[in-house]
Amino acid sequence: MSQIQKLLSVQEIDTDIRELEKELQDIPARKKEELKRLADEQAELVAAEEAQKAAQAAIKQVELEIETHKQQITKLRQQQMEIKTNEAFKALTNEIEVIQQKIRLQEDRELEVMEKVEAARERIKAGKAALEAKEREIKVDTERLDERAAQMQARLDQAQEKRQEALEGITEEWLQEYERLRERRFPPLVRVTDSICGGCHMRLPPSVSHDTRKDDLMISCNFCGRMLYSD
Ligand SMILES: [Zn+2]
Repeated sequence: MSQIQKLLSVQEIDTDIRELEKELQDIPARKKEELKRLADEQAELVAAEEAQKAAQAAIKQVELEIETHKQQITKLRQQQMEIKTNEAFKALTNEIEVIQQKIRLQEDRELEVMEKVEAARERIKAGKAALEAKEREIKVDTERLDERAAQMQARLDQAQEKRQEALEGITEEWLQEYERLRERRFPPLVRVTDSICGGCHMRLPPSVSHDTRKDDLMISCNFCGRMLYSD
């Protein structure tokens, strides 16, 4: 087997290795993406909890107002007991009635707000259930990704082993050049077709193109520097 043929086997394995490595690198980002899918459910739950808090605060406020009005009525009733004239007594009775009317309105309002609290409670319950369902779903997907990562890693280990074997018999000179190009210009070894470099697709000078037909002669592309070979 020529050096070029041997390097082509290594390159084939390296192609797999690169794909496996890329896929492995993508997995943490994909897991992160999965967690982002919780955002809608989390936002809905926060909104429901805020609605509940707002409604509870509104109840407190209304209760406070009712209490204040009740105290006003108590005071007015005390005043009534000290009053001598009928007219003044009546005036206070009217005033008390106005306040009582206000209290009734406030009590109606309190009922409305209580319904809101109840609705928010239901919304929170539903929101929690939706969040939990999504979390379970994501857990399954994440576990699948972990499994996939483990498989990729196993295949990668295998490929690395195969690579070690494939490296056998390749001279230092060829290997060094291959390794130098591997990081920067994958694939390092490209076929010449009709005098065109298979890496950068530039037209090679006829002499260069011609030399690539010679066995085990290291020829580099004048443009991209990749190692060239012809069938
Ligand atoms: Zn080239």
